[in-house]
Amino acid sequence: MVRWGTTRIPYVVRRSARRTTVSIAVAQAGDVILAAPYKATIGRLDELVLAKAKWIVERVRRKSERPAPGMREYLSGETFLYLGRQHRLRVEREQAGQVGLIRGWLVVPVPSALERLVVYVVAHELCHIEHPDHTPAFWAKLGSVMPDHDARRDALPDLGPRLTW
Ligand SMILES: [Zn+2]
Repeated sequence: MVRWGTTRIPYVVRRSARRTTVSIAVAQAGDVILAAPYKATIGRLDELVLAKAKWIVERVRRKSERPAPGMREYLSGETFLYLGRQHRLRVEREQAGQVGLIRGWLVVPVPSALERLVVYVVAHELCHIEHPDHTPAFWAKLGSVMPDHDARRDALPDLGPRLTW
């Protein structure tokens, strides 16, 4: 276990005679697993975990916020984890208003003309929970929940030329 600021990072060590280097992985359930050679001391492993602490904590957080498997569309009424709690998404057709949590709903008020684009942005960001970077796997995931995402994204620059998504 390593302490990084106020965060504790417990980890599991799997030793193998064949390994010559140490690798760090965060498993699906959020467990931190080190594959290490027998000669690597606990002090050395603690050092390595501490050196990668920021990356590890970020990974563990993302794994714990993953949407449930089988959730394929992000539409009004869908539930997902937001700030560590389960919420339902409600996209409202309104000109003004703030994004906020109201009685368990994450409410996103948007003018109706913009709804397509706002839903695109929300879907895009939710896909980042599973895939932090714009990898082919990220775009495949977005394509699976929003087949017309290209067309939606192409419309974005008209709204905010300085924004990239
Ligand atoms: Zn992105």
